[in-house]
This record gives sequence, C-alpha cells and structure tokens, in this order.
Amino acid sequence: MIFEQIAAGGCQSYLVGCETTRAAVLIDPEQSRIEHYRMLVNQLGVHIRYVVDTHTHADHFSASRGLGKALQAPVVMHRLSPAPFADLRLDDGDMLIVGELRLKAMHTPGHTRDSLCLVAEDRVFTGDTLLIGGTGRTDLPTGDPHALYESLFEKLLKLPPETLVFPAHDYKGRSHSTIGIEIADNPRLQKVERTAFVDMMQHLDLAAPTHLTEALRTNMSGGRTVAQMLAEAAREVPFMSLAELNDRIGRNSGALVILDVREKDAYDKGHIAGAVHLPRGQLELRTNSVLPDPTVKIITCCEFGKISTLAAATLRDLGYMRATALDGGMKAWSEAGYPLEQ
Ligand code: FE
Repeated sequence: MIFEQIAAGGCQSYLVGCETTRAAVLIDPEQSRIEHYRMLVNQLGVHIRYVVDTHTHADHFSASRGLGKALQAPVVMHRLSPAPFADLRLDDGDMLIVGELRLKAMHTPGHTRDSLCLVAEDRVFTGDTLLIGGTGRTDLPTGDPHALYESLFEKLLKLPPETLVFPAHDYKGRSHSTIGIEIADNPRLQKVERTAFVDMMQHLDLAAPTHLTEALRTNMSGGRTVAQMLAEAAREVPFMSLAELNDRIGRNSGALVILDVREKDAYDKGHIAGAVHLPRGQLELRTNSVLPDPTVKIITCCEFGKISTLAAATLRDLGYMRATALDGGMKAWSEAGYPLEQ
C-alpha cells in the first residue's frame, strides 16, 4: 500500500494508493497543503482516482473541490453531505475501488450527520469520529452525541483491536493508534453507558473553532474563502511600491490617478495629496463619472492594502487596463513618513 500522512497544523490528511497500479485516493486534503499534494502525486507517480472528505469540516478549509477539479478526480462524500460539488455520494457499506486497494465506507454520524470512516486493509481512517485519546465534538451543526455513541460502540469499535487508527486530527503530533489501544486508554471511551457518554459530550464546554462560519460556508457550498478571493485578485493586478508612488508624486510624472477607496471619515483624516475619493462600496456605480478616461494609470489605495487590491481587480474587470494596487496601505504610508494631506 502506498501511504503518506500529511499534517497541516492539527489536521491530518492522507494519500493512500495501490502499489501495482499507482492508483490512489486523497483523504481530507486541506487548503494550505495543495502544493504539497501536487508534489507528492508527481513524486510518487500516482494517479488520483478519488478525493474523499470524511465529513463537512467546520474547522478548516477543504481542498477537495479544487483538487478534484485540478486532478480530474471525483469528490466523494457521504450521501447526506450538503456540499453541491460532491460527485459521488456513498452509503454505509459502499466500497471504493482504487487499483487493487479496496476502501470500505462506514457511515458514522455523530460529529456530523455526514461522517464517514474508511476501512482499508489493516487500517481505518476515522475522520473526526475517533481521535487519538478523544472523539470529534458533537456540539457543532448536525452533531449528535447519541449518534456518536452508536457509531463508536456499535460500529467502529467492533473492528479488530489491532486495526490501525488514522484520524483527521491530532494536535500532539501523534500519527496513529489502534482500536485496541483506544478502547483501553481513550478517556471518552471509558463512558461505555450511553447516558454517561451523552452527558459527557454535552458538557465539554468547547470554544467554537476559529473559522467556523467561513469554513462551513465554503465547505458546504464551495464558495471561496476571503484568502482565496484576495489571492485571486492579487494575481490579476500589478502593484506599485510606496516609495515609487511617492517618487512619482514628487516628479509630477504625467497622468496618474490615485484612487482612495476608504470610507469618507478615513479619507478626511489624511490622504495622499491629490487622491480622488471613491469608496469601494460605490466603485462600480460611480466609475464612469469619477474615472472618465479608461486609459489612465490608476493607483488604488486603502488602509491596509487588501481592499485596494480587490478594487484594482474590479477596475481591471471594468476595463481600466492600467489599474494598479498600492503595495501596502495608508497605514504603511504614514508609518513610512510619507506626506499626508487633509
Ligand atoms: Fe471535523
């Protein structure tokens, strides 16, 4: 079996494949490691047949959709997944064939309604159903402690005790465990009575994951993350350094429109000399009157350099082919000691 475990923060993802045919599957790929997966695919000479998400992740950004598209591999999830981009939806007991390797899906709701575990030969990929020394939480959308109890005690823990356990998370750098070790040592699995287990799960008092809303929004719908939108905009526009802009203002070198896209109060407190004010929110509606010449060089600026990047990309979309974003915002401009006008 070809087997690679890829850690990203506390998230664990896996590349599992068949030695003979070089067919492989990616399990729970994470957005920040996309380049790494692509490198592994090339290095190992494998062909990705499926990209599997064990459940709708609420705490990180799934790379399944993007990787599935890029690698032309169907995205696999449980039948109950809300993600519209899931190409292949599995039921309990369904099997994926990956060369000579067989991955059998076990529906294990509890952490989420659409949680799956995948059994392959001597090991099981447990998603967030079973973690090393823990279990997935049940207090996030579609979580259910009763379902988790059944999934664990009536299903997953009935696998042979020597089965290797590879979870979707580990925050202590451990790579795996076994079903037997977890039954013996996992504190949560010591509550073998349903009511005691459910009571424990209902009183864990956990903080919400940092990116809960955004992660659910993008993982459920395939919508882009804020970071992705910014990265895309940044690829569509060139930038100008603070020093270069200051220099050009000093030299008074030709037609240059500095477009300040902040709100009025920020603009009034201090802006670059001669900057034209057009808030980001009014950009599309007022370009024709504020920027009558589509051939002019436009430098967009904002407070931190992010909204100005989006604004420059929008302007390029609208046909202002020389729209450029300031590399840095007004905060950096004033910290660098460049002049402001009120
Ligand atoms: Fe999860």
